[in-house]
Amino acid sequence: MRRPLVAGNWKMHGSRAEAGRLVDELIAAGAGTAEVVICPPFVYLPDVGRRLHGNAIMLGAQDVCAEDIGAHTGEVSAAMLADVGCRFVIVGHSERRALYGEDDALVARKFAAVLRHGLVPILCVGETLQEREQGITNGVVTRQLEAVLGVAGIAAFAAAIVAYEPVWAIGTGRTATAGQAQEVHALIRGRIAEKDATIAASLRVLYGGSVKASNAAELFANPDVDGGLIGGASLKADEFARICAVAGK
Ligand code: PEP
Repeated sequence: MRRPLVAGNWKMHGSRAEAGRLVDELIAAGAGTAEVVICPPFVYLPDVGRRLHGNAIMLGAQDVCAEDIGAHTGEVSAAMLADVGCRFVIVGHSERRALYGEDDALVARKFAAVLRHGLVPILCVGETLQEREQGITNGVVTRQLEAVLGVAGIAAFAAAIVAYEPVWAIGTGRTATAGQAQEVHALIRGRIAEKDATIAASLRVLYGGSVKASNAAELFANPDVDGGLIGGASLKADEFARICAVAGK
């Protein structure tokens, strides 16, 4: 059985005080039976990590440098993230791909860097609206997945998580239907299964894109949906806690 996981991506929101309040409210709400990860902005990681000490909620980062050390001004390495208590790192988020020019090759190198330091990559894949309308969703998602498989190898996926995030559903209030989500999640698991059935059976594939407490049950009920990657709704403790509770059912 795959234990459901819900990850909250806070993106570039809030202040140190607000981050503290949010994490305290989440701790008070309780994690339930799903695994729960929160991914604050880099600068708040140590503070949030200290507040999470002894709690089941785990710490994640929103991005990472593909290199381990050196002259990379402004970057943060996977070793540094591990050092401040991160266990998970989001790689290839669509905003990184679209706004910061991250291509499949760079995302694959980031994925490998995360694994080198014993952290769990949450690899984001997903098509734009234009790509969906062109009927090339499966091709795009397969290409994004294969780029990482080519660099990291299938064994790496035993210690990784994949998040299917249709770009047109992120922050738009427009969610994929349960059927649309299941179709792509099954494709992802199927691609992995072609290389290793055991790894595919245990791989957690999260859905992301305007998940709320009100639509989580329908999305998470799909056989190949193992939880969610939550943006906007992870900034409200009540709402996020309710999503986590749904995932844990
Ligand atoms: C995200 O940022 O990964 C995301 C899914 O955002 P939202 O839930 O706001 O659509």
